[in-house]
Amino acid sequence: MKKTFFKDNTKAQIKKKNLVETGFLEATNIDSNEYLISFPPFPGNSESARKFMKHGNEVLPRRQYTLNQAIKERLTPVQMREEAFTYLNGPFYCSYSFMPLGKDQRKRKVSLVECLEGARIYAYVNQVNLAEINVKPYDNAKRVAKDGAEIVVEVPSRTKGEPRTKFKLMNIPVVDSPEKYALAPNFSSDHSCGNKKFKIRYSYESSKESSQVFNICAHEIAGHLGVINHYWNEEKNVIPLQMSQFAIPTQETVNFYKRLNNNFLIRDEQLTSKDKLRKPRKADLEIALWDWVRHKGHDKTFYPTQEIDGNIASYDWGK
Ligand SMILES: [Zn+2]
Repeated sequence: MKKTFFKDNTKAQIKKKNLVETGFLEATNIDSNEYLISFPPFPGNSESARKFMKHGNEVLPRRQYTLNQAIKERLTPVQMREEAFTYLNGPFYCSYSFMPLGKDQRKRKVSLVECLEGARIYAYVNQVNLAEINVKPYDNAKRVAKDGAEIVVEVPSRTKGEPRTKFKLMNIPVVDSPEKYALAPNFSSDHSCGNKKFKIRYSYESSKESSQVFNICAHEIAGHLGVINHYWNEEKNVIPLQMSQFAIPTQETVNFYKRLNNNFLIRDEQLTSKDKLRKPRKADLEIALWDWVRHKGHDKTFYPTQEIDGNIASYDWGK
């Protein structure tokens, strides 16, 4: 069972709220005791929704092909995301992705849902555990400027009674060197969990297929938020934040995501249930989030500021 912080309203709980007529992009305008019904953002069944999350179109921030190009262009990941998030061709994306520079050729895929869930885990640690994510950097070696730091992080589980998961983040830029630009897309980790694989037809895809793609999960994103916080607060070092490959939501985007999960039902004619209503699946949430980005723009959705949003650790995740 999920810990309370991660529990969203059930369909039955949502149906007891007051129904209002509005589109899901207006979800932040409704109250917590209201809900809306909309068409499915992803038109398809649960199997095709899973396939979409695996094979659907990705948002592609500018690709860099060589270390020298990255060092010369001096673009931070957030600058490249801003550009890509500003010119979306519709909302039908399963993630954004980036390619590492070097031997490891696995494409990194990041879904916005995982970015939101990573932020939720990070807020949970700070607000419920009243602690910080455990971060242990191994960054004293001389090669750190070129190869990045290896950092062991410990991230709590969202399930009651389950132990924390401990893993190593690798190739993390922590030094203000020209190489930081070439290093940022090499983000890697030795973490493994169900969220990193796509379950299709009740079995996991073959390892050969999955070896080409590195799906980033909420645990890795939460761990990396811990790294950002550690370097900023312990060392006044902004490089891990500046070079972060993960889109950090604004409070307003968190509010939107909360409404999608707690105040939103989908009328799906393909359902056999009498009311034809269901909660959104991951593909619905992902598409709704891209639609939100398309309407609000990059900065209002995934570029938090201290003045408006405050610290991501203190975001309001209450339903
Ligand atoms: Zn994970």
